[in-house]
This record gives sequence, structure tokens and C-alpha cells, in this order.
Amino acid sequence: MAKAKDLTGKTFGKLEVLHRSPKRSKRGRALWVCRCECEAITEVQSHHLLSGSIISCGCARSDAGKAMQQYNKEHLVKDGVYTHLLTSKVRSDSKTGVKGVTITKNGKYQARITVKKQHIHLGLFNTLEEAAAARKEAEEKYFKPLLEDMMTMNKAEIKKYIDTTLLTKQEAMRVTGQNIKGFDQTVASGNLKPFYDHGEGRSRVRLYHRDDVEAYARQAEKRRRETYKEIWTVVIDGHKRPVYSEDEARKMAEEAADKSSEVYIEYYRAEDGQEAFLNPNGYGFEPVNWADS
Ligand SMILES: [Zn+2]
Repeated sequence: MAKAKDLTGKTFGKLEVLHRSPKRSKRGRALWVCRCECEAITEVQSHHLLSGSIISCGCARSDAGKAMQQYNKEHLVKDGVYTHLLTSKVRSDSKTGVKGVTITKNGKYQARITVKKQHIHLGLFNTLEEAAAARKEAEEKYFKPLLEDMMTMNKAEIKKYIDTTLLTKQEAMRVTGQNIKGFDQTVASGNLKPFYDHGEGRSRVRLYHRDDVEAYARQAEKRRRETYKEIWTVVIDGHKRPVYSEDEARKMAEEAADKSSEVYIEYYRAEDGQEAFLNPNGYGFEPVNWADS
């Protein structure tokens, strides 16, 4: 194993590295004793510091959590309406201008709603007004209870909600599939804004809202599909890594196979929209799960 780079005296988010710990991680990695801005002492692995995946003793998220609760209180409900619904944009390719309403081939209006990632069909209607009314009724029915749930969450539930909703840079990079340089560019260009951004210089702490990160990742994937004839993505323990060729994909998958528990390759062909998961079963890379279309 390579000798650990000396991080003594360096600052990562709210953490200042005091000295190397005599202990090692379970996997034998170097640990560093750090002091958080809140004075708590914590031990962190080098790569967690260098990648930005750990930026505090845990208090950064709880600070962000307070910001989030405040934000929710101020922004989530206005006159009893879940304001996310009022402000969330209609898709740019919408032909009806009403969120959740599309026109079918035979000129009917179809209303749908997505609740907890489940698509619910609300029916086919002759007029846009009827479809829009059905959608509105469904928003009341499905979103209101969700919102009420959120308002009555207990402390542990709030913590869990914040842990899964606010992402560190490293966690966000797992979603977008970018490396540090690419991610930094995305943030610098304003294409992805941190939800929580406090402090200055090296003790600056930034956290990203999962919805924003996922929306950015979808946009980036869409652009990628419009740009390239074939797309190869290596998925390593859920972390998507875009590559440019099958050779590159195979190589990366093979290298990752020893160190990771789940590795597969995603393939997309623009010509006919065909998608496949290449299962490195014995490294034959046989296409499986071809789309029916
Ligand atoms: Zn702290």
C-alpha cells in the first residue's frame, strides 16, 4: 500500500487535521485525527477528506438540517398549497402546458401523477380542462398527506430525511457520475447550485439537494444521448462512470470487479434507442435485458 500523504494542518470543510492516528481503518487505511469547528474530535480516512465526502464531525448536516427545516417552513406551504407544485416547471417538451397532462395519438388528454416515484394514471379526457381538473384533484389527494407527514416527522425521521436529501460533494458525484474536476466545473458554471453553502475559503461547507442533483444528472444524460451514437456507462456499486467506448468500459469493469461488490455496464444506442445491461458474467459481456421496443 502506498504511503499515506501527510495531511497534518490541512483543512477540509469544517475539519482541521491535527495528526495521524495510530489506528487504521478496518481495511488498513490511514486515519487522521481531526478537530471540527464545533470542537468535536473525530477520526477520518484520507480519501474521505480528499474527496470531500466527509466535511465535518456530522454537525454540518445538522446545521444544514436546520436551514432545511426553516426553508421547508417558509417555502413548502403557502395558503395550504404545497408550493413545490406551484413552482415546479412544466416539462419543456409539454404540448399541453399543464403539468402531468399529455395528448395521446387519438387526440385525448391523459392525466398522470407521480407519487414516490410511482406513476399513477388518472384517466383519459376529451378536454384539457377536464384532464387538468383531474390532475389538480390528485395533487390534493396524494401530496397533501405527504406534506402533513413531513410536518409531523419526529427528530429521528427528520435526521433520516436530511441525510438522504442533502448530499456531500462525493455523494452528489456518485449521482452525476462526474469526477472532481467535472463536478467543480458544473458548480462553478452555476448549472448545479448548492442547497447549503456556508463558510469561506477552506472551511466552506456545501451540500446539495438530491432533487437538484438528480435533475442535473438527467439533463446531462439527455445531452449525452443527443450527442453520441453509442453510450457506455460502467456502474460500480451504484456509482455511474461514463466512458467513451466498449473497450474502455470493459477495462474499467474488469479493474473494478475485484474491489467492488456489483459491477455492470449500461449500453445505449441512439439509432434505435436500444438499451442493454452488459453483465460481466465471466467477462463475456453478453447483452441481457434488451428492451422490447
Ligand atoms: Zn462539528
